[in-house]
Amino acid sequence: MHKRLFIPGPVEVRPEVLEKMATPMIGHRSKDASALQRRISDNLRKVFFTKSEILLSTTSGSGLMEGAIRCGTLKKAAVFSVGAFGKRWYEMAKFNNVSADIFEYEMGKAVDPSDVEKALATGEYDLVAVTHNETSTGVMNPVEEIGEVIKKYPDVVYIVDMVSSAAGSKVEVDKCGIDICITSSQKCLGLPPGLAVCTFSEKALKRAEQVPNRGYYLDLLQLYKYIQKKDYQYPSTPSLSHMFALDYELDYILNEEGLENRFSRHKEMAEVVRNWAREHFELYSDENHLSNTVTNIKNTRNIDVSALNKALGERGFQISNGYGSLKDKTFRIAHMADCQVKDIKDLLKNIDEILEF
Ligand SMILES: *Cc1c(COP(=O)(O)O)cnc(C)c1O
Repeated sequence: MHKRLFIPGPVEVRPEVLEKMATPMIGHRSKDASALQRRISDNLRKVFFTKSEILLSTTSGSGLMEGAIRCGTLKKAAVFSVGAFGKRWYEMAKFNNVSADIFEYEMGKAVDPSDVEKALATGEYDLVAVTHNETSTGVMNPVEEIGEVIKKYPDVVYIVDMVSSAAGSKVEVDKCGIDICITSSQKCLGLPPGLAVCTFSEKALKRAEQVPNRGYYLDLLQLYKYIQKKDYQYPSTPSLSHMFALDYELDYILNEEGLENRFSRHKEMAEVVRNWAREHFELYSDENHLSNTVTNIKNTRNIDVSALNKALGERGFQISNGYGSLKDKTFRIAHMADCQVKDIKDLLKNIDEILEF
C-alpha cells in the first residue's frame, strides 16, 4: 500500500504532476527547451518575489547550496546555524576550502539578528549563510530582519537555504536583500526529488567574478553566463522531466491556487498541527519562530515513534521521527506542498485512534 507522506521531503506528489514527469523527451538544445526553461524562470521569479535571474540545477538542493557558498565567498563566510541544515552550510564551506566561521544556537532557537550585526561589525566576513526553515528543529529564522542588518554592509553577500519553505511560506527575496536563495523540487514545490532552483542577484554575480576557484558543475557564474548566451539552455543535459512537471505545477500554483492562498493554506495546516500538539504533547521550538511547513513535537509521553509510524503505515500514512540526536525525543509532521487541511485532519484522526486519545 502507498503511504501518504507527511515527512519533510520528499512530499506527496499530485498524480497529475507525476504524469507530467512521463512527458516524451525533447532535445535540450531545441527552441522548445529554451521556451520551457524561460517560462519556468519567469514564474519562479514570482514565487521568490525577485527580479534576479533564476538558475536551475539537476541536483538536489544541496548542490546549489554548495555552489552558492563556494562562488559567493572571497574572504570568509559567517554561517548562522540553528540545526543540522545550518551545520551543512559550514561543512560545505570547509570541504570546499572556503574559509568560514559557524555561529551556533541551542536547538529549537532562532538566529538573533543582533549577533549577525556583531559578527559583521568585525569586518571579517563577506558572506552570510542562513537557513530560513530549519527542518531538523521546526524553526523559521527571521530572514527579513537579518537582511536589514546585512543591508548596512554592501560588500556582504547574503545566501539563504529556503529548501523546505519556498512556495510554502512567504519570503520576498528582493525586499530581504537575499542574493542567492535556494530550494529543491521535493519540498513545498510538490515535485519528485532531483531538481534545485536558486535566485542569483547582480551582487552575487559580481562576487563570483572575483572568486578564482568556483568548481565546474556547480559554478553558478558559468550557469548564469551560459543561459544568457544560449537562450536559457543549460551547459549540461538537465532533467527535462522535472522541467515539464515544474512548469505544470508553477502554472497551478500561480494561476489556479494562487500564491497567497498557498501561503495561507500552509499556515492553516501548521495551526491545526500545533493545536493538536499542544493538546497532547508540547511544541519543541521557540513559539515566536515556529515553522509553517513542518512541526517538531516534543515526545512528552515517551511514545514509541517507530511503532506509531508502523501502525500509521498500515493505514497508509507516514510521519517523521526526530532528526539526528532528536530521534525519539521528538517527532515531526510536515505540512507542505499540495497537502490539504483535510489530509492533515485525517492524519491526526488516525494518530488519535492509534494512541487512543
Ligand atoms: C531537505 C533540506 C535540505 C537538503 O536538500 P536536498 O534537496 O535533499 O539536497 C537542505 N536544507 C533544508 C532546510 C532542508 O529541509
